[in-house]
Amino acid sequence: KKNKILISACLLGCKVRYDGRDNLIDSDFIQRMQQQQRLVPVCPEQEGGLPTPRAPAEIQDKFPLRITSNEGEDVTPQFLAGAEKTLEIAQREDCCCALLKSRSPSCGNLEVYDGNFSGTIKAGSGATADELMRNGFPVYNERQLDQLIEFIELLDSGESDSRRCAS
Ligand code: SF4
Repeated sequence: KKNKILISACLLGCKVRYDGRDNLIDSDFIQRMQQQQRLVPVCPEQEGGLPTPRAPAEIQDKFPLRITSNEGEDVTPQFLAGAEKTLEIAQREDCCCALLKSRSPSCGNLEVYDGNFSGTIKAGSGATADELMRNGFPVYNERQLDQLIEFIELLDSGESDSRRCAS
């Protein structure tokens, strides 16, 4: 059984970012995973119905979640819908973990922008990363590739006791 990785589509070079660009990562490991058809690319913001390009958005409040664009539009419903659809895809494709773009209000797993559109970072996580982690998916960002590689190698070697990924 292939241990598949859900991946932010922008990290694979898809031009799905708010500004119509990508965040392609240069990694032999990712290329190998792609050749082995083990990557499941998703852009949660597109899945949630937002267009590309779109206005940048940041998390304003966490409880309850409120995400707005820099034009003041409340885009929380789209972000929540995108998170829900991404979770469904991860479950349907039987992904063992996710590699998500850091600092995004959807995909960030450890840090996000602080809501002032000033480029300031704070500890926190995005709507999709939260949804995946809540449902038991390990989430890594592109700065944690070494940890992801270690995790996948462990699963591939059959040494993991992870039920989700046991082969
Ligand atoms: Fe990339 Fe995630 Fe933003 Fe889509 S929502 S552009 S996948 S960081």
